[in-house]
Amino acid sequence: MILDEAILAATVDDYRHLHRHPELSGQEFSTREYLRECLAGMGLEIDDCSPTGLVVRLVNGPGPIVAYRADMDGLPLTELTGLEYASVAESKEAGGTGTVGVMHACGHDLHMSIAIALIRHLDLNRESWSGTLAVIFQPAEETAAGARSMIEDDVWAKVGQPSIIFAQHAWPAPVGTVEVVPGDFMAMADSFEVSVAGRGGHSSQPETTIDPVVLAAHMIVRLQTVVSRRIAPLDAAVLTVAYIRAGAKENVIADSAIFGLNLRYFDHQVRKVVLDAINQVLEGEALASGAPAPSMRVLNSFPLLRNDIGETERLAEMFEGIVGAGNVTRGTQKLGSEDFGHFGESASAPQVYWLLGAQGESSQSQATERPGLHSPHFAPEPIGAIRAGTLLATTACLSYLDGPKANQDRTPHASSEGK
Ligand SMILES: [Zn+2]
Ligand SMILES: [Zn+2]
Repeated sequence: MILDEAILAATVDDYRHLHRHPELSGQEFSTREYLRECLAGMGLEIDDCSPTGLVVRLVNGPGPIVAYRADMDGLPLTELTGLEYASVAESKEAGGTGTVGVMHACGHDLHMSIAIALIRHLDLNRESWSGTLAVIFQPAEETAAGARSMIEDDVWAKVGQPSIIFAQHAWPAPVGTVEVVPGDFMAMADSFEVSVAGRGGHSSQPETTIDPVVLAAHMIVRLQTVVSRRIAPLDAAVLTVAYIRAGAKENVIADSAIFGLNLRYFDHQVRKVVLDAINQVLEGEALASGAPAPSMRVLNSFPLLRNDIGETERLAEMFEGIVGAGNVTRGTQKLGSEDFGHFGESASAPQVYWLLGAQGESSQSQATERPGLHSPHFAPEPIGAIRAGTLLATTACLSYLDGPKANQDRTPHASSEGK
């Protein structure tokens, strides 16, 4: 398969525009308008979905519906790549008071660009396939809110029932490499903010107070035993207390403290044990200090991302034909998280998600030296990454769409796992 050079050049321009103009989760209004402009005049069916999402259907005769998802949001980071098309955008975070820099530091600009190129390529080659390509441009992946908001806004009524759902994510690996993981791929995650209630007072009179700093410190130390003492060593779980805030003055005992918890696991039973143990620790430590039980506010919650095993293996073999057998890695589970899993679950359709090497070799050949996702230095090599990503996405989608209309006796393969 050959990607049209004019499509590639136009899409690289679109990438630079998207990179230069990132928007935070849930604020992707201009991004959506730009996508609409890119896709105008091609006879596509385009529907808004959720406040800032978009569903684009390329209908090309009878046949299966294949869904392809691209996420849209940037991150609250000031870009430090020094690229000519670097972002200088600033924005207000939802609920925040100040202004933050905004950057596409997770490659979602690349994901959107590849989706645009996929649509352009399949539009240009309509004679070679039959069916419907439905691209889901999803906002707010970083906050785990976007997929859910699109599902609540009836995304499947706009898409139709998909036979399969694909997505890929840029990865800090060389352009031309792909990583696939059959089965469980990315962890479930839960984040909470814990509010510890104490009783404030003068630092010289601790006996009149319930010191929330001491209490929170005990909670946090004891929480370190949840994974190490409650979870079997061969079961994966992570518990991180990522921030703590309390007090402002050395001679004032604060009234309250808050800290943020981030949890990861692959197994629902492990999740239950972790959450129950956290509750026991928080309530037990509060009781030991004579304080009321703390409250917990849910910050976000990511589902398990589970790839269809048979379809992933099948795609991996096809990908080897594109980038070479040595460049397709069968990787292992990752404790990072994605809200893509909501789509497959809600549509009862198999899903495959893979990682796309996105970085040029240039001076940084060691994996440890390559700026990773969410780094202010993350700088994909757009031409190579868009070329490879579009070829992979096109191959995946065409393998599930019907062949040319004149050649429709092709036997559709069966999904390897139950729908
Ligand atoms: Zn991210
Ligand atoms: Zn991402």
